[in-house]
Amino acid sequence: MLPVQFLPIQFLSGKLLMQEYLICLVWHEILPQARETGGSSHYTNTMKASDIIYKCPQTIAEALKLLSEVDQPCQPLAGGQSLMPMMNLRLAQPGVLLDLNRLPELNFIDKTDGVIHIGAMVCYSALLSSGIIRHHVPLFALALPHVAHKAVRNRGTIGGSTALADPAAEMPALLKALGATIVVISQRGTHEIAADDFFQGIYETALEEDELVHSIKIPSATEKQRFGFYELARRHGDYAMAGVAISAQSADPWTELRIVFFGVGDKALRATDAETALAGSVFGDKAALTRAQNSLSSLEYAVDGSMAVETRLQLAKVVLQRALKAM
Ligand SMILES: Cc1cc2nc3c(=O)[nH]c(=O)nc-3n(C[C@H](O)[C@H](O)[C@H](O)COP(=O)(O)OP(=O)(O)OC[C@H]3O[C@@H](n4cnc5c(N)ncnc54)[C@H](O)[C@@H]3O)c2cc1C
Repeated sequence: MLPVQFLPIQFLSGKLLMQEYLICLVWHEILPQARETGGSSHYTNTMKASDIIYKCPQTIAEALKLLSEVDQPCQPLAGGQSLMPMMNLRLAQPGVLLDLNRLPELNFIDKTDGVIHIGAMVCYSALLSSGIIRHHVPLFALALPHVAHKAVRNRGTIGGSTALADPAAEMPALLKALGATIVVISQRGTHEIAADDFFQGIYETALEEDELVHSIKIPSATEKQRFGFYELARRHGDYAMAGVAISAQSADPWTELRIVFFGVGDKALRATDAETALAGSVFGDKAALTRAQNSLSSLEYAVDGSMAVETRLQLAKVVLQRALKAM
C-alpha cells in the first residue's frame, strides 16, 4: 500500500494558481540544482519543500534497485503536477525523490493482439495526439480534454494519475470503465492488477512501497462498442464536482455496461445497480433511465462537509442522464 500522506489539494480552495507557481519553483530551481550534481544529490531547503535526496536513475532496473534499497520514505516523481505542489505545501515530505523522467522504457504506446499498452510516463497530451488512442481508446479522446489545462496535460502522466488515485480525477474512473489492467513492477517481478481492484480508497491503491506503475493495458474498442463521458465542473479544467465514464458493448439494447462515477465518493465508484437497471433496455428508454437514476442512492458517497450527500446524488443522476444521452 502507498502511505497516505496527502490531503486532497483540490479541496484547498483558491490554491490552484499558487500550485502552478510552486510547480515552477521546484521544476526550474530545485531539480536543476540536483541534476547539475550528477543526478544524485542532497538538496538543502531554503524555500518551501523539506530536504530531499534526489535520485535520477537511467534504467528501470536502477530505479527498482533504488526503490527497494532506500531506508526512508521514497516517492517516484512523474509529471510532478500533484507531487510538487504537495511537497511545497509540506503535505508530502518524501526523504528520497525518485525521478522517472529519464526512463524511456516507460514512455510508449503500442497495440498488440487487440490490447493497447501505454507506458506509465506517457503524458495526457501525448495520449490526446496519438492516432492509436484516438482509434482504439475513444473514451480517452472524449474525457482527457477535461483534465486540467494544456500546461498540466503536457506534463501530467497516466502513471502518475493512476498511482495517485485521486477520487476526483478522471483517470481512475476511465480505467475502471474500460476494464483496464495496471502492470506493476518491482525487483520481485511484474504482475497485473485489474483496475477494479487497484483503486482502494482516497489516495490509496494496491501498490506496495517497492513497486512502480509500469504501464496500463486497455482492451482495444470494438466496432459496436459505445462510450460516454460527462462531468460537471465549476470551470472547464477544474476538478469535477461529479462525473461519469461509461462503456457498453452495444447501446441498442444496452449490453455489458460499465458505469463509473468520479468526484462523488472516496474512490472511482462502479454503479453496478445502475448497470443492471439499464441492461437489456433500448437506447432512450425513460423508465429504465429512471430506474438507473434511482439505484444511484446505493452508492457510497463521500461525507466530507464540502457537499451534502443529497447534492452528490442529484449531480450523479444528472451526469448519468447526460452521458447516456450522448452515447
Ligand atoms: C492546476 C492543476 C489542475 C489539475 N486538474 C486536474 C483535473 O482536472 N483532473 C485530474 O485528474 N487531475 C488534475 N490535476 C492533476 C494532474 O492531472 C496530475 O498530473 C496527476 O494527478 C498526477 O500525474 P503526474 O504525472 O503529475 O504525477 P506526480 O505528481 O509526479 O505523482 C503523483 C503521485 O504518483 C506517484 N507516482 C508517479 N508515477 C508513479 C509510478 N510510475 N509508479 C508509482 N508511483 C508513481 C508519485 O510518487 C506521487 O505520489 C491538476 C493539477 C494541477 C496542478
